Amino acid sequence: MTKVLEKSYIDYDIVIGGGGAAGLSLAYRLANSAFSHLKILIIEPDSKQGNDHTWCSWLEGEHIFDECATTFYSNIIFKSKYLTKSYPIFPYRYRLISADKFYNYVLEEISNCDHISIKQGKIESFEETANCVQLKMEDQTSYQCRQFFKCYIDHLPSTKDCLYVDQHFKGWWIETQGEEFETETCTLMDFKIDQAGEVRFMYVLPISKTKALVEVAIFSNNLLSQEAYDHILGKYIEDHLSLKQYHITEKEFGVIPMTDYDFKKYNTQKVIAIGSAGGAIKPSTGYAFSQIQVQCDYIVNCLNEGKEIDMRKTKPLRQIMYDKTFLSVLLFGDVPGDKVFSDLFEKNKPQQIFKFLDERTNILEELKIMSTCDIGLFTKALIRIMK
Ligand SMILES: Cc1cc2nc3c(=O)[nH]c(=O)nc-3n(C[C@H](O)[C@H](O)[C@H](O)COP(=O)(O)OP(=O)(O)OC[C@H]3O[C@@H](n4cnc5c(N)ncnc54)[C@H](O)[C@@H]3O)c2cc1C
Repeated sequence: MTKVLEKSYIDYDIVIGGGGAAGLSLAYRLANSAFSHLKILIIEPDSKQGNDHTWCSWLEGEHIFDECATTFYSNIIFKSKYLTKSYPIFPYRYRLISADKFYNYVLEEISNCDHISIKQGKIESFEETANCVQLKMEDQTSYQCRQFFKCYIDHLPSTKDCLYVDQHFKGWWIETQGEEFETETCTLMDFKIDQAGEVRFMYVLPISKTKALVEVAIFSNNLLSQEAYDHILGKYIEDHLSLKQYHITEKEFGVIPMTDYDFKKYNTQKVIAIGSAGGAIKPSTGYAFSQIQVQCDYIVNCLNEGKEIDMRKTKPLRQIMYDKTFLSVLLFGDVPGDKVFSDLFEKNKPQQIFKFLDERTNILEELKIMSTCDIGLFTKALIRIMK
C-alpha cells in the first residue's frame, strides 16, 4: 500500500468503499435517523444508473428491499437428466431484484439524508494508522475515516492456496411477441445442457408473460469467449424453450469467486470487508445477496449497541466446513455436479434446502439432509479438506 500523508483531522466517521450490493445495503440501513450523528461517505467509481446485475434470493416472510423487487415466484423448477420437477416453495418466495431498481431505491433514500454523501471515484489504496484509516483516491485526493467498510474485492487468492472455482454467468433479457412465460414460476436450475465436463446450468426468470432473463451459469476456471456463451444461450432458447422469434433487450455478464479462502483474515477493528470482499459469496452455490443482508444487519446491530464488529460471528464454523466439503465435491468431480444437485432436490423439499443454504438449520436437520447425499463421497471430500 502507498504511504498517504496523515492529516490532523478525521473527515468521516464511516467510509463505505464500493456502492454495489453490499455497500448500498449497508448505506440504506445507516440512512436511518438513529445514525444521523455519524458522518458517512460512500465512494463508488460508477454512476450506478444501469442494470448490471439481477439478484435473486429465496425469502421467508417480508424483507428489506421487497419494495424494489421486480417480481416474486411461488414455484421453482429443477431439471436434470435425473430429475425434472416443479415445486411450490411456500412459505418461501423467490425474489428477483434488478440492480437498477435497487440502486435507484437506495440512492433516493440516501438523497434525503444530510449525514450521508457520495463521491464518484476510485480508492487506490488505504492505510490504517493508530486512530484512523487513510484512503488515497486515484485522483490523488485523500480522506480519513474512523471506520472503513471495504465493499470491493482488491485481491483474489491463488487457486493453489485454497479451493477455488470461478462462477461465470451470461444472461440475455429476451422479449417475445406471444405470451410464452408463466410469471409465478421460474426455472431455478436446468442442468439439461451439455456439461462439457464442468458444472453448467441454465436459469429462466420471467418477469412478465413476454419477458424473461435466460442465463447460463458455469462453475469452472475456464472462462469462455462471449460468442461461446451466446451460442449456449441461443441454443437453449431454441431447443429447450422452443422459441424461434424473440428480441434480446439487455445482456449481463459476470464472474464471481466460489472459494473457501478466508476473506475475513485481513479485517481489523477499523477496516472491515463485506460483500464479495468479505466472503459473502456462498462457496457452494455463488449466492451472496442474502448473506450480504446478514452481514449488514449484524454490523448495524453492533453499531447500535456499541459492540465490537467481528465478522466471523456472521458464519458458524460448521457451515464453513459444509461449504468446504460441498465445494470440494464439486471441484474434484468425484461425481458430476448435476448428480449432486439432483440428489439434493430429489430427496429433500426445497424449503429444507433453502433453510440449510441460509445456514439456519440445526444439527439434526443438517444430518438429515446429509443422509440424502452420497455419504461415502462427502466423507472422502471431508477427509481431503482436513489434510
Ligand atoms: C451477473 C451476476 C449475477 C448474480 N446473481 C446473483 C443472484 O441472483 N443472487 C445472489 O445471491 N447473488 C448473485 N450474484 C453474486 C453477488 O450477489 C453479486 O456479485 C453482488 O453484486 C456482490 O455484491 P458486492 O457489493 O460484494 O459487489 P458489487 O455489487 O460488485 O459491488 C462492488 C462495487 O465496488 C465498486 N468498486 C470496485 N473497485 C473499487 C474501488 N477501488 N474503490 C471504490 N469502489 C470500487 C464497484 O464499482 C462496485 O459498484 C451475482 C453476481 C453476478 C456477477
